[in-house]
Amino acid sequence: MPASTHKTLKIDGSTGEGGGQIIRTALSLSMLTGTPIEITNIRAGRAKPGLMRQHLMCVQASQQISNASVSGAHLSSTSFTFTPNTVQAGDYTFDIGSAGSTSLVLQTLLPALLFTSTDSSNKSTITITGGTHNPLAPTTDFLQHAFVPMLDKLSMQVDIELQQTGFAPVGGGMIKATITPFMRRTNASLLDLTERGKLSNIELVASVLNLEYDICKRELASAKAALIEAGIDEALITTRGNKLYGIGEGNTCYAIVTHQLGDKNEAKTTAKTSTNTDTHQEVFSLLGEKRSSAENIGKRLAGHIRRYLYDTDALIDEYLTDQLLLPLALSGGGTFSARIISEHSKTQAWLIEQFLSVEITLKVIDEQKTLVQVAC
Ligand code: AMP
Repeated sequence: MPASTHKTLKIDGSTGEGGGQIIRTALSLSMLTGTPIEITNIRAGRAKPGLMRQHLMCVQASQQISNASVSGAHLSSTSFTFTPNTVQAGDYTFDIGSAGSTSLVLQTLLPALLFTSTDSSNKSTITITGGTHNPLAPTTDFLQHAFVPMLDKLSMQVDIELQQTGFAPVGGGMIKATITPFMRRTNASLLDLTERGKLSNIELVASVLNLEYDICKRELASAKAALIEAGIDEALITTRGNKLYGIGEGNTCYAIVTHQLGDKNEAKTTAKTSTNTDTHQEVFSLLGEKRSSAENIGKRLAGHIRRYLYDTDALIDEYLTDQLLLPLALSGGGTFSARIISEHSKTQAWLIEQFLSVEITLKVIDEQKTLVQVAC
């Protein structure tokens, strides 16, 4: 990508959902398209408006990988400008300096690094220190078991290692991502993830960091019992407990829900070289809380799974929907069925259309199902 000759795109950061995502996606798209941006009214409606440490890290890390000129970006600032230069593949290390989400910093940088080169041996690595299991953000588990398999379907190859776990408030977690430049697979077709086939497996995982292992056993037993009570075949449920490595302490409990794709989707998902052409994985995750018993966390997790299984036959749940839109627009487009279209998703769709010549349409089927089409 050459140094920018584009006009500056002005973005009102209070548009739509008006949170951190608008900043992260604007940075990703600015680097990808070489468009200078000016963002104002950053997080205007939030209790503490302006850039927090994690958002500032996204700006600084983006500046580093794209050799950008930046003005006005500091803690609490409510506007800044960002003019990218050429994005360089390489080995990068960033430290958020708090328990801020490593996943969100990574997701800001991924799109640009996926498109640095057409030579697949020109890989980049990013190592980020901070929180790996944060509320209101994808956990590393979500990235590994839902986001990365989805990228794989789009011919985007990213590997993520959890090197050390970090929960708030201590942080100290570390993830390392290895990014292979995007190359459309031969015979890749447009993504079509509209039909849900048979449920093939629910894997329940509970993990503790420097806390009693018994918490895992109680969460898993409670989640499993609630699923069986809801009528789910016990033979489809597996459980796994985990002791995590890191400083501080914490607990997380998540489920990987795997479906076969409907007959129509199976052939059309992607090229044959992908490892997950005929299945789809959704991840639901919760973090342990001092005021909530392990049994209660297990039950709440089962509640999320139950709603996804019984209230809809849409394939993609709320969080993966907003996270899928940008990779899908960059890989050529496609169609998927979504359970919930959040404000995050609507804002994401609007922002993507400001930078790229794509059209994102939402066709509401009913309250629990919308067809999302990304046309490039
Ligand atoms: P923002 O609120 O603007 O910082 O964006 C939060 C991001 O985190 C969005 O992309 C959400 O999809 C994602 N997110 C929030 N909670 C979860 C969760 N429990 N699992 C996965 N992703 C999540």
